[in-house]
Amino acid sequence: MGRAAAKSRVRNRRASAARASSKTPAAAKTGAAKTAACPRRPSANRRKPARTRESLKHRQARCRALIALLRKLYPDADCALEHGGAWELLVATILSAQSTDVTINKITPILFAAYPTPQALADAPIEHLEEIIHSSGFFRQKAKNIQASARRLVEEFGGEVPDTLEALTTLPGVARKTANVVLGTHFGKNEGVVVDTHVGRLAVRLGLTWNGRDGKDAVKIEQDLMQVVPREDWTYLGHALILHGRQVCDARKPRCESCTLSALCPSAGTFA
Ligand code: SF4
Repeated sequence: MGRAAAKSRVRNRRASAARASSKTPAAAKTGAAKTAACPRRPSANRRKPARTRESLKHRQARCRALIALLRKLYPDADCALEHGGAWELLVATILSAQSTDVTINKITPILFAAYPTPQALADAPIEHLEEIIHSSGFFRQKAKNIQASARRLVEEFGGEVPDTLEALTTLPGVARKTANVVLGTHFGKNEGVVVDTHVGRLAVRLGLTWNGRDGKDAVKIEQDLMQVVPREDWTYLGHALILHGRQVCDARKPRCESCTLSALCPSAGTFA
C-alpha cells in the first residue's frame, strides 16, 4: 500500500469516529442523528393538539350535535338583559360592557323610567345619567356614549334603532359585538356570533375554535364559530353557551361529571 492510500484510510477512520461521537449511544445504535434525541428540540413526531387535528367537516357535525343537546337543555335561551324593545336593548348592551347583567337589570328600570325615549335621553343632564348608571363602571364614558347614541338616533335615524350592522356601528359606543346583540336578539338577524367571556371560554373547551388560543381571543373565535355553527343558530348558540357557562361549565370548576355535553367535549375530565 502506498503512503497516499494509507493517509486516505486514516482520514476516513477519523471522519467515521467523528460522526459516531456526534450520536448518543441510543442514536448511534439506531443510526438516528444527534439532533433527534436532543430534549431541547421539538420532536418532528410530536402530536398536534387534538383540536387542530379535527377536520372542519367533523367539527361542523359535532357542533350540530352539541346544538341539538343545548336546545333540549335550554329551549328558551335568550338575552339576559331585560329590555322592552330595540332602544332599551341597545342602551342596556352598551352599559353591560365590563359589568354584569344583574347590575344592568337593576339600573335600566330607573334609567328608562326617567328617560324613556331617545329624545328624552338626548336632552338629559349628563350628571344625572352618570349618577343613575354609576354602578355599571366606566360610568362617565358610558353616559357620554348613550347620550351621543340617543342624539344620533334622533338626528339621523328618526329616533328608531337601525337594523343593519353598518348603521348600528356608526353609533357611539356601539362596536360589532353590541350591534350583533341587538340584531340577533331584537331583529332576529344572524349577522355574527356574540363572543363574551362565557362563549369564548366554552368555544375553546368544546373545541369549536382552532385559532382562538384562549377565551379572550374574541375576533378569531367568532370567525371560527361562524364556520362551524349553522347561521340560523348563531344567536341561539351565544345565549345557550352563556347559560351553560354559568350553570355547568364554570371558569374555575367545570362540572364535567354531570355535563350533558361531555361525550362531545374534547376537554371533558381534563380539569384537575
Ligand atoms: S364536559 Fe366539562 S369542559 Fe366540556 S362543556 Fe361540559 S363542563 Fe365544560
